[in-house]
Formats: sequence, C-alpha cells, structure tokens
Amino acid sequence: MSKNPKKTEEVLGGATSQPMEDLTGTSVDFFREHLVQLQGAMKHAPMEDHVRLILNEPKNEVIVNFPVRMDDGKFELFTGYRIQHNNILGPYKGGMRYHHDVTLAEVKALAALMTYKCALLEVPFGGAKGGIRIRPRDYTKTELERITRRFTHDLGSNIGPEYDIPAPDMGTNSQTMVWMMDTYMNMHGATDKHAQRRIVTGKSLTSGGSRGRTKATGQGVVYCVQEWADEKGFRLDGSSFVLQGFGNVGSNTAQILSRLGSIMTAVQDHTGAIYNSQGIYPRKLIDWVEETGGVAGYPGAEEISPEDFWRVKCDILVPAALELQITEKVARDLDCRVIVEGANGPTTAAGEKILLEKGVDVIPDVMANAGGVVVSYFEWIQNKRSESWQLQEVDSRLHFMMKRAYHEMRNFAREHDIDNRTASLAVALERINKVYVERGVFP
Ligand code: NAD
Repeated sequence: MSKNPKKTEEVLGGATSQPMEDLTGTSVDFFREHLVQLQGAMKHAPMEDHVRLILNEPKNEVIVNFPVRMDDGKFELFTGYRIQHNNILGPYKGGMRYHHDVTLAEVKALAALMTYKCALLEVPFGGAKGGIRIRPRDYTKTELERITRRFTHDLGSNIGPEYDIPAPDMGTNSQTMVWMMDTYMNMHGATDKHAQRRIVTGKSLTSGGSRGRTKATGQGVVYCVQEWADEKGFRLDGSSFVLQGFGNVGSNTAQILSRLGSIMTAVQDHTGAIYNSQGIYPRKLIDWVEETGGVAGYPGAEEISPEDFWRVKCDILVPAALELQITEKVARDLDCRVIVEGANGPTTAAGEKILLEKGVDVIPDVMANAGGVVVSYFEWIQNKRSESWQLQEVDSRLHFMMKRAYHEMRNFAREHDIDNRTASLAVALERINKVYVERGVFP
C-alpha cells in the first residue's frame, strides 16, 4: 500500500503538468485526459508509490525519420513512432495508426490504454502503440507499401515476436500487417524466417491471420452491449443505434448489432453524417463506402450536420473513430442510454461527468474495444503453435474473456460505487501492482 498518498498525487500531478513537445493541442490533451482518468482509478486501487511512478510514463519512446521514394521519383521524409508503455505482463502489444494527426503524445496515451486493456482482459501482453503521421488516402498503394516496409525495417530490433507485436489501427489493415510481416521475415535468415510470422497480428487469413480477427473488435463491442442489455433488462430487438466511424470497428459492429434486431439510424465518418429514422442497411452502406470512400451521398439516407448528428435520439451510441469526440458540449446534446466506446479515448473527462449526471451508462474503451487484442492474442498463439482454429472456437473463447472482464468491471464498480471507466482501470492497476510487488524492481 502507498505509505504517503499525498506524495504519489504530487508525482502524478508533476507528470501531468509537464510541458509536452507535440504539435497539436488535441494530442496533448489526450495524454493529459488519460492521466486524469488514471489518477481517478488509482484512488481505488491499492498501489505502491513506485508502480504509480513507473506507469506515468512509457518505458521506451522510439521515433524514426526515414525517406521513401514516391511514384514520381521524388523523396519524402516520414516520421514514425513506436511507444512501448509497459511490459510487466508480457511482450508489448498494440496497433499502428496512419493518420495526419498522429503525434508522440497521442501514441503515448494509446500505448498506456493498451497496458490496462491487456491487464483487464487477462491477456499476457503489455501495452504499446505506434504510427506514422500521414494521410494514407494521399498515397498510392505502392507508396504505402514502400512506406510500411521502410518503417518496419527502421524499427528493426525495436519490435519482435516475443518483444513487441504490432497490429492494425486507424488507417492500417491486414494488408499493412502482411507487408510488415514479410519485411520482418526477410530481415532474418532462411532457417529462422517462419518463426517470425507472429511479429504482427491482424494479418489476412491466407498469410497467417486468425479467423474472426477482422470482426473481433466489433464482435467484442456487441458482446458488451449484450451484457449491458441483460443487466438492464433491455430488449435489443427493435432498439436503435448510432455510429461515429464506419471503418473496421464501426462497420463490423453495425453488421453484428443489426443481426440482433437493432436498427442503425445515423452514421458519421470523415466525409459527413447521414440519417434515416427507418434504418440504414449496414451491408449496403459498406458497399457504398467501398465504392465512394465515405458515407456522404449515400442514397438511402439524408445528410445531416455534425451538430445534428450528435443530437439523434437513440438507445446505443458507438463512437468508433477518433479520440476526444464527446466533449462537454456534445455530452449535453446526446440523447442515448448507453455509450459503448469502440474507439480509444472518445470521451473527455468533462464530457463523461455530464453523461454520468444525465444517467447515461458508459462502457469504456479498455473494456468495449478489447475484442481486437484478445483475438490478436489468439492469432499469436496459433502462429506460435502452427495451428488454425475454427471461427466457433475463436468466438466462444472471445465471448468467455469479454464476459469475465465485463463482470469483473461491473462488480468492482458496484462494490466501490464508482463508474465503469474508473472500475476497469482500477481492476487493471491492481493486477499490474501485484506483479510488480511479486517481482520487485531490478536491481
Ligand atoms: P478505420 O481506419 O478502419 O476507420 C476509421 C473510421 O473513422 C473511418 O470510417 C473514418 O472515416 C472515420 N473518421 C476519421 N476521421 C473522422 C472524423 N474527423 N470524424 C468522423 N469520423 C472520422 O479505423 P478502425 O480500425 O475502425 O479504428 C477506429 C477506432 O477504433 C480507433 O480509435 C482505434 O484506435 C479503435 N480500435 C480499433 C481496433 C481494431 O481492431 N481495428 C481495436 C481497438 C480499438
């Protein structure tokens, strides 16, 4: 137990008030928002001072600047990040984001969330995150391939199948992972090559991926919705849902939720927002997005403004795009029963306060979107054992782990009379603290 709680608060306060050298206000806020939430959870988890200190900053921050030849023969210089937050529970694990707003502070916050997500779900991995500050839509497929391969090569021994295992995130997909895998495998001798396959997860099935990985995060979101509905005695059949983001997480959540009878009435992505009170068919919208690049202009719905999007009355709201979307103002406008965070960090601390006052339930990111890392773990095990599991096995194992973590979060929240986010982080912190106490800190 902490002998001097005041001192530890100062420690955390010191870290939050440190100036950060990043470029955008948004990202700086995200890391600070995360520390505010963490500080709240630390009050409910018995913790050693030195563990708080360790968790305040990532263990390693890798930044690489690398040139890549574009299709027109000219060179561009790119900045890539890999932040390794903590590995007390296992190898570093986390996604690679390609987005024009990627910064060091954003990736730091995302890496820390991975540490707590894995601890909560009892996945034997630590937390990491990485990315490149680019707008992927501005590059051709061949350029993206060269950027990805050069980035992987430059990360070199900073990643590894038993050390740090990347996965897809915003702006990346199974193709990106297969390029990373192939590059990394080719950096090893012929006899050692295939042991490197699990350097990344989220690969295509043909290149060593797992059944069920593509839909895993959306599937996990829906398992959480089902647990919430069971507890509340709420019928999903005939209910309504709204989505922000219609990429991997959003579109898979939409398809699975709609199979349970819930109706999607509004969607927003980077191209605009659309609404239809009678319902939007997820499959048709997926085809439209594949064809046109975004939801804007979809013929089966009317376009609405961003302000009106947040005001659409619904039962379930799933943010599945960027962080810091549900601000104080948005929280006041929202008219929903539950928010299930498919995205990482979509709700600000001030926004959440208002939601809780309004009686809106929040299922936080570390719980709601953990399906991705759970099935990534299954993929990693399958690669390690040269196995190929059937979808039913993947889904039932995922269901078991999501349900177990969900109930641990809810029991903790009830026992301590606290919100779900604080509870989920506190459960994770307790586990991490225990391991640090058992193992001690070298030397
Ligand atoms: P994606 O790239 O497949 O899709 C991102 C979606 O967000 C797209 O529909 C895009 O149009 C939309 N978007 C981008 N900018 C927007 C804006 N300004 N306003 C509204 N919409 C915008 O990414 P993804 O893999 O679905 O990830 C989405 C979120 O889920 C991220 O926060 C990510 O960290 C989180 N997440 C993803 C996984 C995974 O397995 N892919 C796992 C856990 C958490």
